[in-house]
Amino acid sequence: MPLPLERPSKIVCVGRNYMAHARELGNDVPGEPLLFLKPPSALIPGGAPIVLPGASRQVEHEGEIAVILGRRLRLASEEEAREAISHVLALNDVTARDLQRSDPQWTRAKGFDTFCPVGPPVPVESLRERGLSLESLEVTTHVNGELRQHGRAGDMVFSIPFLLAYASEIMTLEPGDLVSTGSPEGVGPLHPGDVVKVQLPGLSSVENPVEAA
Ligand code: MG
Repeated sequence: MPLPLERPSKIVCVGRNYMAHARELGNDVPGEPLLFLKPPSALIPGGAPIVLPGASRQVEHEGEIAVILGRRLRLASEEEAREAISHVLALNDVTARDLQRSDPQWTRAKGFDTFCPVGPPVPVESLRERGLSLESLEVTTHVNGELRQHGRAGDMVFSIPFLLAYASEIMTLEPGDLVSTGSPEGVGPLHPGDVVKVQLPGLSSVENPVEAA
């Protein structure tokens, strides 16, 4: 099964970007974006299994709205950042929650192979054609057909253009880079035999079975 996108140079992610999700894990909302990276080796397409690593006893889904950059961004304004977005897609920021708590940083918890399922990218032009804006995007997560998460971009602590501009002050964002914008509340465990589906309803979705290592 091929990936539905070109392999990015990096995957930039954001922690605690929805107030209700930060609180469900016992955290405050940060004063500025909390960025981390997932390795491109974690990417899988829909249909490929999420493999639960033996090192973790608590792997969880995080359904998120992600974007792809169509041009390079460095020290960008929010307006430049907005114009640089070429596609939006559904992304599952699969996380070993126990390792996220035990390790002082999140590389291991976020970085296992298969921990980044991605749906087909949708060009931003087709959003406009449907009367949708970045701010109107929604994301849902279902496990075995049951709704577990439902978030709206309008509820993010930091907007998508702000996140991109902020990241571009740290690292040059290259064309093709993937930026995921944080998970709404309702994260929960995945078990062998589960099927997890993250959707930007009507736009992009990614569904994966879950397997033990
Ligand atoms: Mg996340």
